[in-house]
Amino acid sequence: FSVWSQVPMGPADPILGVAAQFKADPSTQKVNLSIGAYRDNEGKPVVLESVKRAEQIIKERKLDNEYLPVEGLQSFIDASIKLGYGDAYYAQNGKSIAGCQVLSGTGAVRLGFEFAKKFLPQGTKVYMPNPTWPNHHNIARMAGLEILEYRYFDPKTRGVDFSGLVEDLSKAQNGSVILFHACAHNPTGCDLTTAQWTQLLDLSKQKNFLPFFDMAYQGFTSGDVNKDAEAVRLFTKQGVPIVLGQSFAKNMGLYGQRTGCLSFVCANQSEKDKVVSQLKLLARPLWSSPPLHGARVADIILNTPELNQLWLSEVKMMADRIQYMRVSLANTLKNLGSPHDWSHISKQIGMFAFTGVGPDHVKELIAKYHIYLLSSGRISIAGLNEGNVKYVAEAFHDVTK
Ligand code: PMP
Repeated sequence: FSVWSQVPMGPADPILGVAAQFKADPSTQKVNLSIGAYRDNEGKPVVLESVKRAEQIIKERKLDNEYLPVEGLQSFIDASIKLGYGDAYYAQNGKSIAGCQVLSGTGAVRLGFEFAKKFLPQGTKVYMPNPTWPNHHNIARMAGLEILEYRYFDPKTRGVDFSGLVEDLSKAQNGSVILFHACAHNPTGCDLTTAQWTQLLDLSKQKNFLPFFDMAYQGFTSGDVNKDAEAVRLFTKQGVPIVLGQSFAKNMGLYGQRTGCLSFVCANQSEKDKVVSQLKLLARPLWSSPPLHGARVADIILNTPELNQLWLSEVKMMADRIQYMRVSLANTLKNLGSPHDWSHISKQIGMFAFTGVGPDHVKELIAKYHIYLLSSGRISIAGLNEGNVKYVAEAFHDVTK
């Protein structure tokens, strides 16, 4: 007998489980297309030059390792808000945006949902796109929010089911929380057009929705951080009180540093102060004080003009390489004579492609070719490079013949 004998074995996380399987595979040909982390053309993880220089500056400053305040590093929070909402909006309304440093994008969604649970009327529901990043469901469940879904992806067109989306949200209760991926929708790689966002903006206003933008890939979609924040800015320009979650995992490559920001558009400065005070009360028992190093790095990059320029060029470089590999994979499949239309791979955007291959194909890709991807058929394009794209295309062609 032991105290924990009743504890059942939990299932592996659908994404992290595949990554563990990849690690255990001894094959020299193996390809990891499961995890959303940027890789260079040699398949290696990247520490950005802007990050290295910021770390050098941190070293030279001989800083200590004291705790940050519960709400985090203020200069980082301000810079992060400016990056998300844009300089013009920040200059005018920055004083009424409540910001809090959080544990990357996951922490932003978690703290945001905890706040919604505590301060929105009881029974308020959160609507998520179907499909979405699976962890969104775990987080909402942990925060005690009831989850509903809105249609997002149409497998027939391999694009957005916009009429389904509008139909579902039109039926949603007034005042619901609507989770949007600000850009680079994960896992589908399909974003909304400006016209579609505008329509959703009108609907949000009509129904008093609380739009919650999860922005984990700012810059990764188009290579331009301002362009990728278009939806956020469209809504805020119209005075919609959005919530914004920002992660610097992908666009600064700070994955393990857990660097992020959660912010709320408030009506005025006094409302903002109250919201921040409550965010602190929620964060204190969760993590007490957020991580220091990544916030310092992001702070220096965002607030040092030369480093900021360098970083923006590095974001573009990463986005461009991903786009190049998309086209390369789609073209190679076409040139191999695949009977299927793979053009959606080059049309989709962001880090991922929703290939359309089914779970049986996925099993075969893993067993026969040591190519690891999610059972949904999602691949991380960042895992492709000039050395493996032909091998991957041949494998996809073979299993889908
Ligand atoms: N939101 C979305 C849509 C994501 O894809 C991710 C990363 N996979 C996150 C949030 C959170 O990532 P992190 O906590 O590493 O910033």
